[in-house]
Amino acid sequence: MPNPKTLVVFDFDWSLVDEDSDCIVLEKLSKPLRTKMNELQHSMEWIDMMAVLLKELHSTGTTRSQIESALLSVPMHPSMISCLHMAKRHNADITIMSDANTIWIDHILIHYGVHHLIDNVITNYAEWDASNCIAIDNNTHSQQNCNTIHSITGEKICNRNLCKGHELRRLLNLREYDNVVYVGDGVNDYCPSLQLRDTDVVCVRKGRALEKLIKDSYGSVRAQIKYWNDADDVLEIFNDVFTRGRLKSEEKERNASTRMCLARGMVAKNIPKILSSNRAVKSLENNWHL
Ligand SMILES: [Mg+2]
Ligand SMILES: [Zn+2]
Repeated sequence: MPNPKTLVVFDFDWSLVDEDSDCIVLEKLSKPLRTKMNELQHSMEWIDMMAVLLKELHSTGTTRSQIESALLSVPMHPSMISCLHMAKRHNADITIMSDANTIWIDHILIHYGVHHLIDNVITNYAEWDASNCIAIDNNTHSQQNCNTIHSITGEKICNRNLCKGHELRRLLNLREYDNVVYVGDGVNDYCPSLQLRDTDVVCVRKGRALEKLIKDSYGSVRAQIKYWNDADDVLEIFNDVFTRGRLKSEEKERNASTRMCLARGMVAKNIPKILSSNRAVKSLENNWHL
């Protein structure tokens, strides 16, 4: 029997990496713009705000190589890297879903030598324009019209430019997965958590928005919920899913086939009796007819 096919989905900021990549770039290169970010984030969608701030960063004379070296200070824990290798060893498909952008994510994945392990990155498309300013396409995944609402405030959860729930449904329609392991921390990881099935696992970072959303809407998530503090905890969960979980299901299969063999053995042992009782019936029938 082939191994079950698993889809692993990682959110990027504060999940696969241990920081927010947008914040780090501004933190390292312009303290005033980092402060401005705090002011703007309540009145603008995140992606629109970043487009504005990165244009301003460029206008202050910040170069492409300065931005690229700032990105290298985004930390990825060695145990997260082990999670990626473990998932790949077990033939899982690995997808990153993030409201950051393609330049940030590609650069960081290449830096940590894990780019080749990722099958799919669903994020906002970005490119360096002719003047080496970053242009982010804030319509890469728009028109998804998600209506998932916050259970307490009643407000819409997903940003206009990306609904990860919609993207997860699309992936699950493209191919049949036996189980999904989703790793996330933020508000926009709530909608995909609602799409998960009872065979799936959602790994929720403790102390962050997703944990509160899930606890406030008790019972809305069908998947098994595992809470984590750091990458070591996630590695432990992956160990459970890919190693111990597989061992358990193999053990179940072995037990089932042993039961089947035993049952067959019992039938085989009883065949002479069955035959002789058949013969007895036959002889009775014959006698009857006589
Ligand atoms: Mg996040
Ligand atoms: Zn959504």
